[in-house]
Amino acid sequence: MENTESTGGRAAAPAGRFLTGRKALVTGAASGIGRACATAFAEAGAHVYVVDLARDAAEAVAAEIGGTAHVVDLADPEAVDTLPDDADVVVNNAGLQYVAPIQDFPVERFVLIQRVMVEAPFRIVRRTLPHMYGRGWGRIVNISSVHGLRASAFKSAYVTAKHALEGFSKVAALEGAPHGVTSNCINPGYVRTPLVENQIAAQAAAHGIPAEEVVERIMLDRTAIKRLIEPEEVARAALFLCGPDAGFVTGASIPLDGGWTAR
Ligand code: NAD
Repeated sequence: MENTESTGGRAAAPAGRFLTGRKALVTGAASGIGRACATAFAEAGAHVYVVDLARDAAEAVAAEIGGTAHVVDLADPEAVDTLPDDADVVVNNAGLQYVAPIQDFPVERFVLIQRVMVEAPFRIVRRTLPHMYGRGWGRIVNISSVHGLRASAFKSAYVTAKHALEGFSKVAALEGAPHGVTSNCINPGYVRTPLVENQIAAQAAAHGIPAEEVVERIMLDRTAIKRLIEPEEVARAALFLCGPDAGFVTGASIPLDGGWTAR
């Protein structure tokens, strides 16, 4: 078992490279927040498993950061079970959005969102925990959302999935604690990524307002700080949770929401 006095066989890390010798599996790492996390974790010394459906983008990110691309569809349980099982850090980040009133919400889209955003994180953590327990150290970071803590109309599948991820994260925190494994959620408001850019058009249609009004009137309506967050700001919070100052932080949900949940 590794303890705070030992490096567990890892080479002594230069300052800031506190993940040297660690392997970090990041899902949805080809774009947006996942890509920013993959880059930040590689800069901190980790070897990153870049997991994504988008082959070209995943391979490009892996080449850029010296990681390994794993092209899988996280909606396919068998494919998920082929991912590496020796990650010391898991960042459950891949996600997708669909906006529609409940009565019109396509059932298969609801199921897909639960598969990618709930079942895949469960399968990946289930698969990697034995390795983490064996080393007496592990970090699970779940990229939840302000929608893991609050609801918005027309986002039934996404809000359901993020609330489920919150529950799973807390259970992993309780089970992992005796083994040196922490599990936490990060809860961003709107982040400047392709996922949000795609939502602007969809929200405009759902609310029947012009696209340019969506960011100001809807997206930032409940946010006290009137700007989108950058993916790199989320990545720095994820890195903090895996760093030397966060060993006692577990089972937590950290809002990066510009004051949204202060209301
Ligand atoms: P993004 O669309 O930029 O990136 C998501 C990545 O996930 C893409 O590379 C995509 O290919 C991958 N992915 C999607 N479905 C997949 C599947 N079935 N198998 C494998 N890979 C798949 O999105 P983002 O904005 O960076 O979001 C990342 C996470 O952050 C999501 O879980 C999202 O819910 C969460 N989040 C985003 C925001 C935001 O405002 N962008 C806010 C809060 C939370």
